[in-house]
Amino acid sequence: MQRITILGATGSIGASTLDVLARHPDKYRVHALSAHARVEELAAQCRQFRPQRAVVGTAEAAARLRGLLAGLPVDVDHGEAALCDIASSAETDTVMAAIVGAAGLAPTLAAARAGKKVLLANKEALVMSGQLFMDAVREHKATLLPIDSEHNAIFQSLPAHYARDPDAAGVAKILLTASGGPFLHRAVDTLGDVTPEEACKHPNWSMGRKISVDSATMMNKGLEVIEAHWLFGAPPERIEVLIHPQSVIHSMVSYTDGSVLAQLGNPDMRTPIAHALAYPQRIASGVAQLDLTQWAALQFQHPDFDRFPCLALAFDALRAGGTAPALLNAANEVAVQAFLDRRIGFRDIDRVVRRVMDENPCGAASGIDAVLAQDACARDAAGRIVSGLQGA
Ligand code: NAD
Ligand code: MG
Repeated sequence: MQRITILGATGSIGASTLDVLARHPDKYRVHALSAHARVEELAAQCRQFRPQRAVVGTAEAAARLRGLLAGLPVDVDHGEAALCDIASSAETDTVMAAIVGAAGLAPTLAAARAGKKVLLANKEALVMSGQLFMDAVREHKATLLPIDSEHNAIFQSLPAHYARDPDAAGVAKILLTASGGPFLHRAVDTLGDVTPEEACKHPNWSMGRKISVDSATMMNKGLEVIEAHWLFGAPPERIEVLIHPQSVIHSMVSYTDGSVLAQLGNPDMRTPIAHALAYPQRIASGVAQLDLTQWAALQFQHPDFDRFPCLALAFDALRAGGTAPALLNAANEVAVQAFLDRRIGFRDIDRVVRRVMDENPCGAASGIDAVLAQDACARDAAGRIVSGLQGA
């Protein structure tokens, strides 16, 4: 029995994870579940999966959850320390890190430091803390498996000896595929008018709202470039983004001998989740087999950086190094939330991020405190720029 903690159980990834787990009650048991505010949904999940522990955002939410779960033996708690505790507990083997944004950093890092098997969906945590996170994984002998579909595809397309001896693997390039999101073909001069509803309507994937907006700006792909850099030790010039609107190929690795290996499948996150849960074995995920005869053509094109300036900003942050990716991520989180709240327009997202990057110095990512300080400073700066834009 593998004992699982799911951080962010009520989200899109959390729900897909529980869907896979429900198919294999003989293999997995849920140790703990967390949610931020969606208490009713978490209560329903607790009734179905009977975890020992449940963690929510606030004391009020915890009180409501206790009321809903009266009579069930679930220990209810709240706050960041409790999240870190369910992520590092001796009672759990595997942690699904599926909180969205910087809020997931502390518990995901706690899981790594406790030497857990960490299934990483929360890309923002790795983007922020890069080297520090990878060092914690190595030092505490944690197992890190990527859930992001692209990185899971790359992981599947690399040889097993890659981690031990990357130079001998003959990797020429990592080819990160991107759908291009809902605005791949929309006239660039009308992008300022798009609504949160339009931005969240992804053509191929059903996801949470923040990552959906990130997919529309392609900041998501930018964060994934940084994620790939850390996961696979690849310098920026060896990571190429390719737009592939069908999302059938989830990413590829090209080798020095001319070979290109790819992972294909229907766009459903239960495939990478099942892959990582069972690795190195395979289990059923509930995803239908891919029928390639249904696809008349698979297309590929280079991204247009004028249409997707956030992608260029992310490459800039990766090249700058240090705390620059943490700054990029925090500015983006603030800008995306402001866009979702209809306080700024869609094209203001890249403007806010660029201004925060231009106007705030970054330093060395010498420790988690330096990363968190950069995150806080970028949030302040982005908040001020958003207020200015609202007043304009
Ligand atoms: P979501 O918005 O659907 O769910 C987010 C979860 O995090 C919820 O359970 C919520 O309760 C919790 N949460 C939100 N704010 C929190 C806070 N401040 N403190 C504690 N918990 C909080 O998001 P999602 O689409 O499931 O994405 C989760 C993560 O996985 C993101 O980092 C995203 O980039 C990544 N990811 C998602 C997909 C996808 O298909 N949805 C694919 C690849 C990667
Ligand atoms: Mg992805």
